[in-house]
Amino acid sequence: MRVAATRLGSLVQRRGFASTPRRLDNYAFIGLGQMGYQMARNLQSKLKPTDKVSIFDVNTSAMEGLSAEMKAASSGAAVELAASAHDASKGADTVVTCLPEPQHVRGVYESILTDSLPKKDRIFIDCSTIDPTTSRQVAKSVSEAGQGTFVDAPMSGGVVGATAGTLTFMLGADSSVVPRVEPTLFLMGRKVLHCGDQGAGLSAKLANNYLLALNNIATAEAMNLGIRCGLDPKTLANVLNVSTGKCWPSEINNPVKGVIETAPASRDYRGGFGISLMRKDLRLALVAAESAQAKTELGTLAFNMYDKAAQREDCKDRDFSVVYRYLGGKEE
Ligand code: NAD
Repeated sequence: MRVAATRLGSLVQRRGFASTPRRLDNYAFIGLGQMGYQMARNLQSKLKPTDKVSIFDVNTSAMEGLSAEMKAASSGAAVELAASAHDASKGADTVVTCLPEPQHVRGVYESILTDSLPKKDRIFIDCSTIDPTTSRQVAKSVSEAGQGTFVDAPMSGGVVGATAGTLTFMLGADSSVVPRVEPTLFLMGRKVLHCGDQGAGLSAKLANNYLLALNNIATAEAMNLGIRCGLDPKTLANVLNVSTGKCWPSEINNPVKGVIETAPASRDYRGGFGISLMRKDLRLALVAAESAQAKTELGTLAFNMYDKAAQREDCKDRDFSVVYRYLGGKEE
């Protein structure tokens, strides 16, 4: 039974587990990094012992570590270590990929879609954050090879959400395949937002992260402005958060130490959403904007800022709210 389905124009949001569509038995999971490792673990643990998950990553220690963890749990689907992405996909009905950048997605699918891959009506679910143009090209190559359907399902929720199985997926797929895709996504996350045809999930994800990138810088600048004018940081944040400036960076991820105790700023910007990931997402948003001929004047300025901050010793590898430090914001 579906729980709490809400319709917002063409956007369909569903929570809970979809049970009506048939469960596909053989899965492949390719890309076992920070996100993929946890997602594959959740997927395998929630499948039946009669199901099988074949895993692959170029990093063999990630593969072996995950396989050992899955086998130690002694429940869920059978696990198989594959020798390549192609090998993992051979017997799979559903293939999930979670890779870093567009070139990795292109390369992995080229290696899978060779003539030696047995013909099958597979579902390929790509959870990587890449640009919609590359994603559409890969979808076309899957369909031209007669190997089934490729959908984009980029996610939000970070490593915490991947570990807890509470991710939100932004799905780009023809409506007719949504019932075949959702059951797999609900094993790794809590919400599936169907955004439109293939590629639409990525367009939504990149538009959201574009806005987040700008809101984050604007919040850092506004906080720095008010503090340097003599305001107490918490007083200023309290004003913003009941006024029209309120946004996620001001309210939840405030960039000034001590304003929100649980925010990365209060632990030297450790953890959270890495500045290099934000730089990458913003670059992809600018690529998408260029191909859609959407004007993004602030985006280029913001990208240069993340680019420079990500290289500075006291900012790199930190949460993206560290732009406050990059701006010379007062920290004590
Ligand atoms: P990651 O770099 O930790 O993991 C990527 C994995 O892909 C690595 O284990 C790598 O060895 C593997 N890989 C690379 N090339 C491969 C190939 N040819 N064949 C097989 N495996 C290959 O990245 P991540 O943090 O897990 O993110 C994955 C995707 O999810 C990215 O597109 C990222 O932007 C997106 N994302 C990440 C987060 C986050 O918080 N980390 C949140 C939302 C979305």
